[in-house]
Amino acid sequence: MSDACLLCGAATHPVLDSVRDTRFGSPGAWTILRCESCGLEQTAPRPTGPELKTLYETYYNYGGESGTAYTGWREKLLMSSFYRLFLRLDGDVSFHTAQGSGRLLDVGCNEGRGLVLYRRNGFKPEGLELNSRAAEVARSRGFMVYETDIAGLQPSLPFERVVLSNVLEHALDPQEMLGHIRRLLVQGGEVWISLPNRRSWLRQLFGRNWINWHVPFHIVHFDSATLRRALAETGFTVVEERQVTPALWVALSAIAAAFPGQPKMQRQPLLVVALMGIARGLLFPLLWAMNRSGRGDCLVVKARKDA
Ligand SMILES: [Zn+2]
Repeated sequence: MSDACLLCGAATHPVLDSVRDTRFGSPGAWTILRCESCGLEQTAPRPTGPELKTLYETYYNYGGESGTAYTGWREKLLMSSFYRLFLRLDGDVSFHTAQGSGRLLDVGCNEGRGLVLYRRNGFKPEGLELNSRAAEVARSRGFMVYETDIAGLQPSLPFERVVLSNVLEHALDPQEMLGHIRRLLVQGGEVWISLPNRRSWLRQLFGRNWINWHVPFHIVHFDSATLRRALAETGFTVVEERQVTPALWVALSAIAAAFPGQPKMQRQPLLVVALMGIARGLLFPLLWAMNRSGRGDCLVVKARKDA
């Protein structure tokens, strides 16, 4: 398989090896390659489509983790007014506080938690979800959920907004995905993207244990420049860009570093909440400064479809 840059086709070189799956503990080790021309980073070896499908079904399975203390806690939190308040403080990487109207597509909508919030905020949201059990739960909440990959999606009407909340970095071909998003949008419609920033200070701090390597599921590791390039080349203009360092992400990386090889520790609610409290309550000046200096953990971008 070619190690050429997925964005520009130039040669790459390794910058980090022996990176393991700190989130689910799937076996194997991966290398992070950096493009010598545009700076994009990518996971190697890159799984094939069928390999990824098996990996998602084995490790990412929604049905495998319902009704646990962790999922129950998460569900209650997301629907609370405390959550909205917290997002104003912490930063909103899933566009859960965005107000508006019109048709919105949430790509990778899982069980439809985001759809409920988008509907509450004025949108007419629909979802796309490949996991049929998760899609079924979302439908039971009254939403249209497409169970197809983005290439196969043919909605009756185009969308005003498409949300890619921590999705684009999973794509084997991000530009192809953006091309399909463009096809699905009305003229002047917007794609709302959040994804990890490869220039994050947490990557420097935690090295291989940075949770946002998320190998082998994260294929591409963007920064502001490479994401802007991918958007420009697929017919989008960036209209808004922010950086956010979610307290949750700080907590999960800290746990991954403190308990190597024990991904289940990342689903211990009390531990996660305690560390989030420390990150948000004590480290907030640091988080703020890093976001301002381009080293936040998450890029949050809105881009408009060009005429
Ligand atoms: Zn490149």
